[in-house]
Amino acid sequence: MMKIPKSHPRYESLTIREKLAEGFRKGFVHETGLIAHGRGEAFDYLIGEKTIDISNDAEKVATALLLVAENPVISINGNTAALVGKDCVELSKKIPAKLEVNLFHRSEDRIRKIVMELKKFGADPVLGENPDARIEGLDHPRGLCSREGIYSADVVLVPLEDGDRCEALIKMGKKVIAIDLNPLSRTSQSATITIVDNVVRAIPNMIKWTDILKDRPKEYLEALVNSWDNEKYLRDVLSYISKRINSI
Ligand code: ATP
Ligand code: MG
Repeated sequence: MMKIPKSHPRYESLTIREKLAEGFRKGFVHETGLIAHGRGEAFDYLIGEKTIDISNDAEKVATALLLVAENPVISINGNTAALVGKDCVELSKKIPAKLEVNLFHRSEDRIRKIVMELKKFGADPVLGENPDARIEGLDHPRGLCSREGIYSADVVLVPLEDGDRCEALIKMGKKVIAIDLNPLSRTSQSATITIVDNVVRAIPNMIKWTDILKDRPKEYLEALVNSWDNEKYLRDVLSYISKRINSI
């Protein structure tokens, strides 16, 4: 791994890139994942590379939704495993939620490598290696999933998802929590709860919210979830960004 001096003004951002490059060399990050990350970085600049207050609220409400779910599943792809694999395992244990590896560019080799990576962090089981169901409306390899996981889930957390899959999951009647730095993406626009934040901040924050919310009564958590207006949130994010740009 390349050594980045801590004094470098872009230290954090460069460290994140290095994690993805390392994941690519190990064969579990897809080459297009590197490009997708670049799109995310551009939006991260626009929000100031920090969790804005309204996104902290989104993280809180999304955590409440995971806590009240019957069968919550966290969907993992290559970038997610490289950037926050360990945190996703911790979150899945705390909620508790199942973990399923689900890839846009499905390859059995990459699935196996990501499963191994998550197991290294103590996850067991990790679903996804033996798909026995299909997400309706997606073409063959992309639609494959596990019956006890994503197929039967009522709530799916999809960090860094593509718009098609998000829409297909919603059409199946599921509630989808998306983490996407781009408030304008199809994913962001179609999710039940969108979190416009970097996954490297969002998942650790959701772990923190789990600790705070996990002993609250179900009615309290349900009221939080029911009060969420995702369209308003996305409008507020865009207005935050435009105000920020106008004040520079
Ligand atoms: P659509 O959702 O409109 O179909 P897409 O999913 O095809 O768009 P991609 O570039 O394939 O677009 O997906 C990557 C998405 O993930 C981008 O919207 C980008 O903003 C977001 N993204 C990338 N890296 C991160 C990250 N570290 N944290 C949060 N979001 C990220
Ligand atoms: Mg997307």
